[in-house]
Amino acid sequence: MTVGADLPRSTTCRGCAAPVADIPAPVHAYMSAAPGCWQEFSLLTAELADPGVLRLATDCYAAQHPYGGERERRQRQSVAVHLTALCLHLEHGLSEDRMRRLLNGISREVLPRLGRDDWPVLEPPAGPAGLGSVTVLDVRHAPSEERAAATARWASSVWRAWSGSHRTVEGWARIMLAEGRPRM
Ligand SMILES: [Zn+2]
Repeated sequence: MTVGADLPRSTTCRGCAAPVADIPAPVHAYMSAAPGCWQEFSLLTAELADPGVLRLATDCYAAQHPYGGERERRQRQSVAVHLTALCLHLEHGLSEDRMRRLLNGISREVLPRLGRDDWPVLEPPAGPAGLGSVTVLDVRHAPSEERAAATARWASSVWRAWSGSHRTVEGWARIMLAEGRPRM
């Protein structure tokens, strides 16, 4: 008997490049994730109790599986909205409550200001650094008391990877911050 013969083969996720089990399993409707990677994220989201950490992990995951936006409107929107969320969290330090309120109306507020009825495709980062070295696996394998810190590292890494789009995303974040101010 060969040692390890029963282990599932692994494959590289086409989104985040994590080594994940090569399994036949459901995939997300439009995020560019391998089935084994999507399964890891689904298990993680079931285990994260803090709504702020859960939202941040979702922002990271969506931003790290961004391919195919040119042919899928929902994917364009997902990448744009989740990157704007990362920007509001990391660069502007918004509270979870305020984030939730602002992001609710983001397409309604931002797209008319851009004169568009649809989000543009953001070109995913190319090059050897890809979409950052921290993936869903790092958070899943962290002990539960360290998952918030691991998710924070994941967010910084993904946001840094998207540096070529920071100016664009920052512009969207600023529209939201202006809209979110109380009106006289
Ligand atoms: Zn992945």
